[in-house]
Amino acid sequence: MEDRYAFLAEWFDPIAALMRRFQLFYYPNDGSMEMFDVKNQRVFLKRIKYDDIHPRDLFVGNRVNVFSRQLNLIDYGDQYTRNKLGSKKERTLALIKPDVVTKIGDVMELVYSSNLIVTKAKMTRLSWSQAADFYMEHQSKSFFNNLVQFMSSGPVVAMEIMGDEATSVWRKLLGPADSAAARREAPQSIRAHFGTDGLQNVGHGSESLDAAARELEFFFPSAIGHGPSNTATFTDCTCCIIKPHAVSDGLTGKILNSISAAGFEISALQMFNMERVNAEEFYEVYKGVVLEYPGMVTELCSGPCMALEIRGTDTPKTFREFCGPADPEIARHLRPNTLRALYGKDKVRNAVHCTDLPEDGVLEVQYFFKILDT
Ligand code: ADP
Ligand code: MG
Repeated sequence: MEDRYAFLAEWFDPIAALMRRFQLFYYPNDGSMEMFDVKNQRVFLKRIKYDDIHPRDLFVGNRVNVFSRQLNLIDYGDQYTRNKLGSKKERTLALIKPDVVTKIGDVMELVYSSNLIVTKAKMTRLSWSQAADFYMEHQSKSFFNNLVQFMSSGPVVAMEIMGDEATSVWRKLLGPADSAAARREAPQSIRAHFGTDGLQNVGHGSESLDAAARELEFFFPSAIGHGPSNTATFTDCTCCIIKPHAVSDGLTGKILNSISAAGFEISALQMFNMERVNAEEFYEVYKGVVLEYPGMVTELCSGPCMALEIRGTDTPKTFREFCGPADPEIARHLRPNTLRALYGKDKVRNAVHCTDLPEDGVLEVQYFFKILDT
């Protein structure tokens, strides 16, 4: 029998103003899917090949975008799917240490190429006492002071990553704690590539599922307003949003690399799950002005996006030029090295949003890093 994954999905129908429930089936053999309306007991979407849905996005708790509808996957639809997809899925903390924050793009690339996805991310700067709390277990070690000093010496990026056996996969990807040992014993590992020594070794990974739960709670607490704060400066800056389609296609690492390579500083970074009302508010100025406004709103809340505060000379103007024309087709003809030319699909799914007017740079950064990050 053909492999088939089943999910229970919810979609808020804005016209009827009610929550609809569907059975969603995905066929990994040909990447096709179909949907049944649970209440009305009828086919909602006939089986059709759909390239924008990736098997790695199919897990309970995730939000997927199907033909511009945001579906929440609320449960597995059968035991087969639960066993096959659910049992090995783990969430763990991947923390990028201050020595390599400028290489965050490379590290994210490695995360995605190991079939893990980034479900939360935040750039933050730990105080001495926050770093000491985080590394409490090493309190009695000779290197404790150096470790805490190092961890609070600059920004770090905390990520919740998810995938099959994420905890051990990420630790294996990091390699041995001592960078020199990593170069000898695990030359392909991240610490072998980017590490300096026994202390400055690129990243941290939780050692067990219990540790992962505790450490994720430290950076992404369930109670609002408590975790370590973001690093936005709100001065001389512009706002860049890596759109959900690009995040879901695993392009975040590449885009961050392109931005850094072009000489821009990424001074704050955070992933958000936008509510529709927030996406409408953020894009308010385009309403009735830009034909694509409804599509832009739907895209921005179709899955997690990544907001960046960008600094550099004469931003927002220079950064806007670097993003290129809004239409990726035009961008590919006229400005082939711009972000939209490289990573955009169409006018709505054009990889990134960037601030249009210089005076709006700070305001847009504030919208994400002050208003939404509460
Ligand atoms: P890991 O990060 O691989 O889980 P440990 O839990 O043993 O490694 O140590 C935590 C961190 O403390 C290491 O990643 C490293 O930054 C630092 N550290 C560990 N051992 C030493 C050491 N001997 N000298 C200096 N720093 C160390
Ligand atoms: Mg450890």
